[in-house]
Amino acid sequence: MQDGLSVPIKGVLNKLSIKDLDIKGKRVFIRVDFNVPLDENLNITDDRRIRSSLSTINYAIDEGSRIIIASHLGRPKGRVDKRYTLASVSRRLQRLIKKEVTFLPDCVGPEVEAAVSRMSDGDIILLENLRFHIEEEENDEEFSKALARLADYYVNDAFGTAHRRHASIVGITKFLPSAAGFLLQKEIDYLQGVVNHPIRPFVAILGGAKVSGKIDVIRNLEDKVDKVIVGGGMAYTFLKAMDYSVGDSLVEDDMLDLANEIREAVVAKGIKFYLPVDCVIAQSIEPGAETKLVTTQEIPDGWKAVDIGPASVKLFSEALESAKTILWNGPMGVFEVDAFSRGTFAIAHAVADAYALTIVGGGDTDLAVSRAGVSESISFISAGGGAALELLEGKELPGLMALTDK
Ligand code: AMP
Repeated sequence: MQDGLSVPIKGVLNKLSIKDLDIKGKRVFIRVDFNVPLDENLNITDDRRIRSSLSTINYAIDEGSRIIIASHLGRPKGRVDKRYTLASVSRRLQRLIKKEVTFLPDCVGPEVEAAVSRMSDGDIILLENLRFHIEEEENDEEFSKALARLADYYVNDAFGTAHRRHASIVGITKFLPSAAGFLLQKEIDYLQGVVNHPIRPFVAILGGAKVSGKIDVIRNLEDKVDKVIVGGGMAYTFLKAMDYSVGDSLVEDDMLDLANEIREAVVAKGIKFYLPVDCVIAQSIEPGAETKLVTTQEIPDGWKAVDIGPASVKLFSEALESAKTILWNGPMGVFEVDAFSRGTFAIAHAVADAYALTIVGGGDTDLAVSRAGVSESISFISAGGGAALELLEGKELPGLMALTDK
């Protein structure tokens, strides 16, 4: 993070915040996104999602509220499936906040209501997985009411799920005064802030597998961005559309015309558009596969681009030098394989070293930044893949729209 440029985004949220509510001694239903990765023994392998909502939970503790926390985990498809229980999340939460957390075996019903009615100020309950009930994903009105009965106020801190029209995200807000938690607020301030009021020059770096997943982001940023850098698998659709031979690289053939259209439209607006000039190629994406370094004009048949090369890293890094705002979404190569991760990690370092507000959001980019060891030097790392992408595409998030206006 670069001093002085770390938080120039002013709050853009026009919805109630948890700070606007008088929650002392009140029952507060906090919807979080504790959808953490688990190993085969149901141990949590990464608890960042839990830690990212701690400021909201700790605030409610300090205010002396009665706190009811709810989340989904995985896709149990509306059935009770112990592989998706939040029991281990409850233990981890307890350890992180150093307070007792009562874990209930369900999220609605008379027993849950009875347990809630016995709560004292400062008590914390974690409900069992919301998605054990099919009504959650159906945004069912009765289920929403049953959740709402548990509380006096609703707080949404589940940014990663804010693009879903589910009962605990949207339905419940019909029955309770509804506010944003600190994580949700921060995500909106940064991601909507960067889209609506970027400090220029503003550079967007887009990567990842497919053009189709990022087209709407490019379109939405067209009038705000000064430079667009495209890497990752999606670059080869743009290159093939320009008649380059891209061998067996990932290409969406039905996107070729659109790729040309978009590139031409962006360039016509005076925006600089960068594509890789060299790349690492392999015949397969297996870890031990033989690799070669070639220019993007000479990828032989039978070989596919799996990473950007050093000349591209230099070109892209230079393009970042004057930036005041950098948004990065999507890796530059198949970074999950060590041999193909150099380009992505080099760009992670270039972003981290830039004297700019740096925002990393969506997909696996947060993982790439963390593996590159530079997370601490990024101004803001978004926790929500799909939700972040929808905000960057300029879409409205149902979970946000449903909150009470200020
Ligand atoms: P996305 O979710 O669209 O951001 O895509 C992320 C995925 O894109 C990662 O799993 C990468 O392995 C993959 N990816 C990045 N570059 C390439 C490439 N050149 N060829 C195939 N896949 C890629």
